[in-house]
Amino acid sequence: MIKKKSRDEIKLMKIAGDIVAQVHLAMKDAVKPGVTTAELDELAYDIIKKNKAIPTFKGYRGFPGTICASINDEVVHGIPSDKRILKDGDIIAVDVGATFRGLVGDSAWTYAVGNVSDECKLLLEGTEKALFAAIDKMRAGNTLNDVGGAVEDVAKEYKFGIVRQYGGHGVGRNMHEDPFVFNYRTGDNTILKPGMTIAIEPMLNLGGDAVYEHDDGWTVSTVDKRASAHFEHTILVTEDEPVILTSLSGKQ
Ligand code: MG
Ligand code: MG
Repeated sequence: MIKKKSRDEIKLMKIAGDIVAQVHLAMKDAVKPGVTTAELDELAYDIIKKNKAIPTFKGYRGFPGTICASINDEVVHGIPSDKRILKDGDIIAVDVGATFRGLVGDSAWTYAVGNVSDECKLLLEGTEKALFAAIDKMRAGNTLNDVGGAVEDVAKEYKFGIVRQYGGHGVGRNMHEDPFVFNYRTGDNTILKPGMTIAIEPMLNLGGDAVYEHDDGWTVSTVDKRASAHFEHTILVTEDEPVILTSLSGKQ
């Protein structure tokens, strides 16, 4: 069942979303060669705590970090570590959640570390474009098929692989609520209604679709070892324009 949120719940989700957006603002500056993913994790933790919120991921099914930090061929769920040092030419996806008075904001962004290859630049451009194409479909009366189709179309335009096993999700009092949102057309005719809050999160690959989970039980990587990017925002469906809850401006 898809839960619609009350006005009060939406207010709290906006605060949670703003905290998540602040973490990403800080990441923009902090991501550089020589920095460890543990340092990024600590930075995110401090910002969330300073804002009297809870790091949603920490302890979720035993996950140890505040952020997921996934480098290059890692797709999602990378565990922060003081042994993972960013180097020039890497790309790193940072996924972060904050819970404020019981309500969750969830957002991911992939950052270039120093100078990255042209194909990685294109991967970041295309995956971000897919996110915003999908967000534009988050309108009352549209279906989840429309949302997944928007990601699929951009992936096809760029000839990128689509990660099939992971996708977007309802979010609110829990990080993962109904519905699941595939990043491609599945014929899911679930209709979007005002008050629904859903995280949209395309994961696209320079190579093929296939991914696998590491023995650590978390990190997911591409099978062909080519780079993957992940962009995510938490969106509120309204009678009018979609509202991005995890952006400070509400627009981008
Ligand atoms: Mg996320
Ligand atoms: Mg998510």
